Amino acid sequence: MVEKPGRFGSLRRLAVVLILSALWGLDSQAQWLPTPSSRQRKSAESMAPQTVKMPAAEPGLATTRVLRVRCYADRDWRIGGVRWQDRVRAQLEALNRIIEPSLGVRLEPERFERWERTANPGNLRDTLGELESLDRGADVDWVFGFVTPIAIATNSIHEIGMARYLGRHLVVRGMSSVDLMAQFNKDFDRLEQGEREELYSSIKAHKEVVVLLHEWAHTSGVLHSSDPSRVMNPVYSHNSSTFSAQDMALFRAGLASRLDAGSAAAIDWSRLKAAVEGSSSDEWFTQDRQELLRILGSGPPKADPPERDPLGPTLPGTRGKGSWAREDVEAYNRALAVFNTGKDGEVWKALRPRAELPEAPAELLSLICRLAPLPELATLGPRLCQRALDHAAADNPVPFLNAAEGALMRKERTQALAHAREALRRAGGSTQQPSTWIWLAKLLRRLDSPTWAEDALTHAGDAASADEVLADLLRARRIWGLPPGDGHSAPPPDEENAYVELWRRVMGDLDKGRWKQVRSALAEGEKRFAGVPGLLTLSCEVALIQRQLGSATKSCMAALAAMEEQPRAHYLLAHVKLDQGARKAALAPMKRAVELDPREREPWLELAQLYRALGRSKESSQALLDADKAAPAAGRPSAK
Ligand SMILES: [Zn+2]
Repeated sequence: MVEKPGRFGSLRRLAVVLILSALWGLDSQAQWLPTPSSRQRKSAESMAPQTVKMPAAEPGLATTRVLRVRCYADRDWRIGGVRWQDRVRAQLEALNRIIEPSLGVRLEPERFERWERTANPGNLRDTLGELESLDRGADVDWVFGFVTPIAIATNSIHEIGMARYLGRHLVVRGMSSVDLMAQFNKDFDRLEQGEREELYSSIKAHKEVVVLLHEWAHTSGVLHSSDPSRVMNPVYSHNSSTFSAQDMALFRAGLASRLDAGSAAAIDWSRLKAAVEGSSSDEWFTQDRQELLRILGSGPPKADPPERDPLGPTLPGTRGKGSWAREDVEAYNRALAVFNTGKDGEVWKALRPRAELPEAPAELLSLICRLAPLPELATLGPRLCQRALDHAAADNPVPFLNAAEGALMRKERTQALAHAREALRRAGGSTQQPSTWIWLAKLLRRLDSPTWAEDALTHAGDAASADEVLADLLRARRIWGLPPGDGHSAPPPDEENAYVELWRRVMGDLDKGRWKQVRSALAEGEKRFAGVPGLLTLSCEVALIQRQLGSATKSCMAALAAMEEQPRAHYLLAHVKLDQGARKAALAPMKRAVELDPREREPWLELAQLYRALGRSKESSQALLDADKAAPAAGRPSAK
């Protein structure tokens, strides 16, 4: 089993510190010949946690706002000497001491609740999900769950705490670790019991506040940092203590969006969105930023109609072609404000007064295409959606985009693709905003049509999010083994989605060991998509599973000859080598696999294991560190 990065990390660091201090013992600045206890004291001092610092508030910050948190604690967490409610209070106070001077908010417990949790506490993702469905937290600002302490000393923050971007909930584990205390007692046996306990509790308190702050920051849209001294680094250390200027910009923008919304159900995140789009940081991970932008941009582009519609001088009833009545704009924006909350009844309530008027704009009507079938809309909904499409101007793709989103939501993929293609056709006939093109590209990406998605992106200009969609498409192509057009080995654009569907089917059947289905799907693939590199990689995988190493090598080599940038083919080749007992020869293809798709965690771990087996422990540790940066373990649940 591969050793988990971060696991026992603090113990390992402790050992390193002890060895170093033993080496340096003789030139200790404290004493010419240090006693064992002074050596231990010195290494203990080097482990003392750094105080968490947040930059001071911007001038002019109004008085502190109090935000309410409902606090749940499970049975394991409640066990302990001090009243559990007081321990929760102490954690919030520690957090407040950091955030209040800087962000002008403080968190107060609204109520304490005992939590009879049922989800497996080993899985924080499930635990978070359970808390979310237990208490939606509609009447408070946050809901925190304090759960079972972790049994091992881990430094991976997401094994200790979890939250979703822009979520209202977070869970954190208790921090007491008997193992860690026992290790302390052993490693610092020359120190006074009091000194040991002091060091232990300062590390524990530091870790508690860092993890809580880290997860809480995610709920306001703060991204991970690759700098190990940052609180937002996915790996905890006693140096975790700082925030970058970019972290703080997101923090302030995200928090401001929440505060502006007050008790309203819908939060307008546009300030945060602007902050994310308008800034960049070398410390961020691309996929994190992409994920956040995806969450922020999941609705239709909000600014569209008002931007295109100079409202100032236009009087109701006198609007000309292309401009909207003020009532329409207001209804549309009201609908959008609640759209992302998933309360379709509210969206409909906002649209209804305008939707049944004969002159209702197509874009407004087309929002109805995306609503879940409410009883009231059973027949009216599809009729109004169709009217939106019928009335859309020849160069207006937006109603078709909404119709495609609706169809995709109902899992009618063929219909969705037809609408998306019509949107692409209409968009090409006139000038569109970059955001419309990016929306279209993302939609076509979700419909497994990379070539059309790339076509849409060529119009999107140099918007930062266009690069991200492009990077995502490139990754998808590598995984699917689907090279960009113009080569003889690529299916035509209108068959790409069928190819991807087949690819997914084979992967699913492989997982479940359904050999008959795998064989018949591959035979079908041979006929329809002969020579597509991803199919050759699938054949390689089948041969490898059946231990036909010669045939596997042949298929994988052919796959790579057709398209070298296939991480899976390299990964499989590495496994062929391992099965042949050729560890050294497995190294190059395994390295290439992680290089081509650094976001996949498993190959990283295998690479680390391989290095270790080859006696290259330094490179092994480095691979684990890289893995935590590029592909954090069982990270936060994706907010899809
Ligand atoms: Zn995190």
